[in-house]
Amino acid sequence: MVFKDYKYERPDVNEFIKKVTDLSNKLKEEENLTEALNIIDTFNELNAKYISMQELVSIRNSIDTSDKFYEKEEEFFNEESPRANVATNEFHNTLLNHKLLASFEEKYGSQWFNNMRLENKSFSKDIVPYLTEEAKLVNQYEKLLASARITFDGKINNLSQLSVYSQNPDRKIRKEAAIARANYMSSISDQLDDIYDKLVKTRDKMARTMGYNNYLEFGYYRLNRSDYNYHDIKKYRDTIYKEVVPFVNKLRKEQMKRLGLKELKFYDLDMTFSGENPHPNGDASELVEKAYQMYSELSSETKEFFKYMKDRELLDLETKASKMGGGYTTYIPSFKSPFIFSNFNGTSADVDVLTHEAGHAFEVYEASKELSVPDVFWPSLEACEIHSMSMEFFTYPWAEYFFAKDAKRYRYAHLVDAINFLPYGVSVDEFQEFVYLNPNATPKERNLKWREIEKKYMPWKDYDGVEYYMNGGFWQKQSHIYSNALYYIDYTIAQVCAFNFYLSDVKDHEATFKRYVDLCKLGGAYSFFELLEKSNQPNPLKDGVVKKTMKELKKQVKKLEKEL
Ligand code: ZN
Repeated sequence: MVFKDYKYERPDVNEFIKKVTDLSNKLKEEENLTEALNIIDTFNELNAKYISMQELVSIRNSIDTSDKFYEKEEEFFNEESPRANVATNEFHNTLLNHKLLASFEEKYGSQWFNNMRLENKSFSKDIVPYLTEEAKLVNQYEKLLASARITFDGKINNLSQLSVYSQNPDRKIRKEAAIARANYMSSISDQLDDIYDKLVKTRDKMARTMGYNNYLEFGYYRLNRSDYNYHDIKKYRDTIYKEVVPFVNKLRKEQMKRLGLKELKFYDLDMTFSGENPHPNGDASELVEKAYQMYSELSSETKEFFKYMKDRELLDLETKASKMGGGYTTYIPSFKSPFIFSNFNGTSADVDVLTHEAGHAFEVYEASKELSVPDVFWPSLEACEIHSMSMEFFTYPWAEYFFAKDAKRYRYAHLVDAINFLPYGVSVDEFQEFVYLNPNATPKERNLKWREIEKKYMPWKDYDGVEYYMNGGFWQKQSHIYSNALYYIDYTIAQVCAFNFYLSDVKDHEATFKRYVDLCKLGGAYSFFELLEKSNQPNPLKDGVVKKTMKELKKQVKKLEKEL
């Protein structure tokens, strides 16, 4: 069976709730362990079916945002899911309060139950109206950005298509494209501000309803973060400022020299080299074939996995006019199927999709074979990004398949980009910290704060007089700020972890890759810190780790630079 034949049927939410409630009541009375475990397995199956239908809708809606049927179904889930969540939350509480809890934890592992404890800190039926409102606003944001039609270079572009021009060797074209983008974003900036303002206030009310002082405290629990709080993250950002920002500043100066420029403007930042940046040869299906060859050689596990993805057509890669922007990987439990979504644009980012998103998909594919509860197939989000970002590095030796003689330049550009990303990543986090500690700040105050943060972490950013950015509008394009509050710092933490897998891989591939596969198999059976410990990985939130990582990494950058 292939993806397009996966059958969608709208679930009957009332029936779902009734069944879950019945199971919950039955479980309360059940004293026999075997019977109790049967009830739990039935619940998991029921839940997996519901989630699978929700995922099918979400995927198909993102593939074609103009498809009225799936648009309506998406609205249906946005409306109804919070109500369904109340029922599953009740079932979870029955589990937590059960006499046989210790035996349950023994059978399914503790993390599933720890997640339920976190769920109680971040969910109650009192906030359901706010959750519904939040989902609606996020949907508005996504639609608004997806509806962008920007005339440039004699054709109509969506934002993803327009972004290709940031790597055009002709500086004049880069600049014009950047201005076209800024003009478009500026034209919708009031709408974007309005959506964000409502989102921030909705989230603030959510947090207060749950008894917290602000969304910052509350949001960490929503993200299943059990090992650290926002004070730890502040310390971590300070470390990035101290250990990474000066190095990136130096890399930016080198980049400017390489490009033969006197000043590095914001529309030059994506140009690692003068002339063409490395880009892959071949269309989507050719790249998928090359990826299959690569994964076949990397390991038997990755070979089996990628064949499965290909045979079942679980990748939707090419950009289309009405497709949602960006890229993601998800999982449809009832069909045992990871799914990869992206917008190919002919740049090296296409290869990054086949390594990054494939890393996510590989993890869930492996974890789903090992674990019995779909809720713990994925770990918390910072851990998820380790799987994906590390895969980008594990596949370095195969870059020749995609880039031929440009492979060395690809590896250098990719590594430098990954380092350059860290200051931006922590900026997005520092901005959100301000936003949720000051929920009544005006859009203008938010923009000023963003600009101030940019200047601190990215002093090289020169907006060449473009007002929209000079006034602090850049953050509006960062969808995570809208759709997934407080998420994003995760990418930077995972990036440091991925650097460590890379540094270890260079020394001993076999042992390192085995450690990686073992980490993937653990899925979300443990918390973030525990997963790092179990896979013998340095923890970026611990003192000295970022510093040590950067020290080794600088040597590796030099090494790749020499190979150019
Ligand atoms: Zn990812």
